[in-house]
Amino acid sequence: MTEADVELLRERSLRVTQGRLAVLELLEQLPHADAEHVHAALVERGHDTSVQSVHNVLADLTSAGIVRRFEPERSAARYERRIDDNHHHAVCSSCGRVEDVDCVVGEAPCLHAQAPAGFTIQAANVTFVGLCGDCVAADATTAAATTATA
Ligand SMILES: [Zn+2]
Ligand SMILES: [Zn+2]
Repeated sequence: MTEADVELLRERSLRVTQGRLAVLELLEQLPHADAEHVHAALVERGHDTSVQSVHNVLADLTSAGIVRRFEPERSAARYERRIDDNHHHAVCSSCGRVEDVDCVVGEAPCLHAQAPAGFTIQAANVTFVGLCGDCVAADATTAAATTATA
């Protein structure tokens, strides 16, 4: 797996560094992590790195097209390795959990927008906002508890 990542970095003319490989491996395990989260997880795994260098690595990987970045509303930018399939995201407005949503209509670009003159649409980025299963369950529990004490 790391071999493949080394190849990938070389293919995109990025210098192969331990930092880049570590971030790539981590995003494989933790899709949709933000920079702080990536940093904390790397430190937990024994890597000696700073939040700033994680930001730098993520920026390099994003501009090289290896990592996809998206920004849920009111949340830090998240990063993931699932690229090129134009999938969308469902964001929980309560806990911030992010789940992938497969393309709604079909092949990319799945949203046939009426493009403004001179504008070429390359990708659609849709974010669905709602409550995740855990938060709905927690809500129900709270409601039940309130009813019980009332
Ligand atoms: Zn939630
Ligand atoms: Zn995703």
